[in-house]
Amino acid sequence: MPNRKFADGEVVMGRWPGSVLYYEVQVTSYDDVSHLYTVKYKDGTELALKENDIRSQSAFRHRKSQSSSSSPSRRSSSRSRSRSPGRPVKGRRRSSSQSREHKDDKKKTVSETSLAPLALKPSENNTRRYNGEPESTERNDTSFVTSEQKLKPDREIARVLEQYSLRSRKEEKKKEEIYSEKKTFETKKVIEKAPSKTKELEFGGRIGTFMLIFFLPATVLYLLLMCKQDDPSLMNFPPPLPALESLWEARAFGVFLLWFFLQALFYLLPIGKVVEGLPLSNGRKLQYRINGFYAFVLTAAAIATLLYFQFELHYLYDHFLQFAVSAAAFSMVLSIYLYIRSLKAPEEELAPGGNSGYFVYDFFTGHELNPRIGSFDLKYFCELRPGLIGWVVINLAMLLAEMKIHNQSMPSLSMILVNSFQLLYVVDALWNEEAVLTTMDITHDGFGFMLAFGDLVWVPFVYSLQAFYLVGHPTAISWPVAAAITILNGIGYYIFRSANSQKNSFRRNPADPKLAYLKSIPTATGKGLLVTGWWGFVRHPNYLGDIIMALAWSLPCGFNHILPYFYVIYFICLLVHREARDEHHCKQKYGLAWERYCQRVPYRIFPYIY
Ligand code: NDP
Repeated sequence: MPNRKFADGEVVMGRWPGSVLYYEVQVTSYDDVSHLYTVKYKDGTELALKENDIRSQSAFRHRKSQSSSSSPSRRSSSRSRSRSPGRPVKGRRRSSSQSREHKDDKKKTVSETSLAPLALKPSENNTRRYNGEPESTERNDTSFVTSEQKLKPDREIARVLEQYSLRSRKEEKKKEEIYSEKKTFETKKVIEKAPSKTKELEFGGRIGTFMLIFFLPATVLYLLLMCKQDDPSLMNFPPPLPALESLWEARAFGVFLLWFFLQALFYLLPIGKVVEGLPLSNGRKLQYRINGFYAFVLTAAAIATLLYFQFELHYLYDHFLQFAVSAAAFSMVLSIYLYIRSLKAPEEELAPGGNSGYFVYDFFTGHELNPRIGSFDLKYFCELRPGLIGWVVINLAMLLAEMKIHNQSMPSLSMILVNSFQLLYVVDALWNEEAVLTTMDITHDGFGFMLAFGDLVWVPFVYSLQAFYLVGHPTAISWPVAAAITILNGIGYYIFRSANSQKNSFRRNPADPKLAYLKSIPTATGKGLLVTGWWGFVRHPNYLGDIIMALAWSLPCGFNHILPYFYVIYFICLLVHREARDEHHCKQKYGLAWERYCQRVPYRIFPYIY
């Protein structure tokens, strides 16, 4: 018989980790090995608590009556904060007098503040408080959370979460299973450091990823070869493979290397602010220099200088295939290097999604999460620099090639539209570079072949397909059509930008007064989920905007062939798949709260369609 103080089913007061607050909880089980009680809060959150963090309800009733009479003033001061089990308490930054007071009356404060949230009526405060009601009061809960978040920015919440390692009980159970055979776990900390293997394989598992390693380069080759054809109909037989020697040019490879290292040099320049990324599984935060936009400006200056000295940029067009092959070869070598170095990386630095133990799978998805050489972050660098900036340089080369080949004094209207739309997209990404730190690519996916090839080959050589197509297949469009396409791109951009900004601002500071009009629902992790604004419209409004823009980039190429629409078709597939991956991760992260979000916002990307 285990030596335990509280029985299963007993309703007691449980301390919310990281705070001095106690809430009514129900004991659901007890682990006699770890000596932890599993308790359930009224919002459904389950946590494992030590016996010291649990009190009987009678003790509280007694203290409440004592303290309320002895110190009413402090009682009222506690009203200015709104707290709930779903939201750990913000780090306490006090004035010296406050802290003295705090020290003196620490015990009293515990009992007073502990009871306040349960005792207060909504009318007693200008902010709504957690009232322990079940989900049926969600609408009211949301307004409570919105106002409450003003007091608890995500960073602070993350700090408390890190400190106390709050995880849902379900997740804890999974980890326990790993250890259950030997019962080797002694404390919660030991469980946390357990290496987590990737169990659910994506992209078709080992076979799928193996095939993708060949399929992706083959697709690029096919698209570029087709684009060079006079009749690029996809109904035609693929053109014959060019001789191997014609695919490789040492000079093109040299130029590619020069480009890559020039961008690396720009990345290393000590200009631009340094920011912290999201906390890693070990609680550490990596630092990133935000200077992508400066790199772009420096690159633009370098290109302008080259053009001034009559450098023929359309060399890129003439040797496009060789450049693509050079980039592919480089990304393969880089991926091999990344995999080899990942074998020596500590377990805690491996990517949650790329640690299956299967060579091919981990090589493809990326084994190490944030490979760095000193402070040089390889993944972060490749995400936005050589490929993305390279894309607009390629577009410019296509524009110049079009003028030269067709003897035009001006680029075509179609070419101008494609160049301008995509330039806007790239500049926007670089201007908002910090936002990339919260994307799945940085926080979840490792750096392996998928991202290396995607960043260095797919983005610059496939995303520029419309401009490449227009050089060989001039398409005239009228001004009204151009205006309509521009409006479409503007709508897409507006949705894309405002949705991304709304979420990023909310994640960075949920208390941002500019977001006061938005509502969110609480989750057990302490982070909220927006349920109004763009994120209440569909579950991925940013994808919707991105897809609308993708269509606007293809339309200037006319309707003669489907080839220039490859990007929008592929992009819809990519984002539908990405949405499913994200959905899966969010379900794991937020559980019930995510399901509630999905009920409220039923459409994923396209309103009333999908
Ligand atoms: P998102 O920016 O869409 O972020 C998804 C994350 O947002 C979720 O994991 C969750 O993370 C958070 N979230 C989801 N719902 C809510 C909500 N209701 N309230 C608050 N937070 C929520 O991820 P991506 O990295 O996929 O996309 C970033 C941008 O990049 C998009 O605009 C996309 O279109 C674009 N993109 C472009 C590509 C291209 O090749 N051109 C390729 C891929 C993406 P958490 O709760 O942990 O914060």
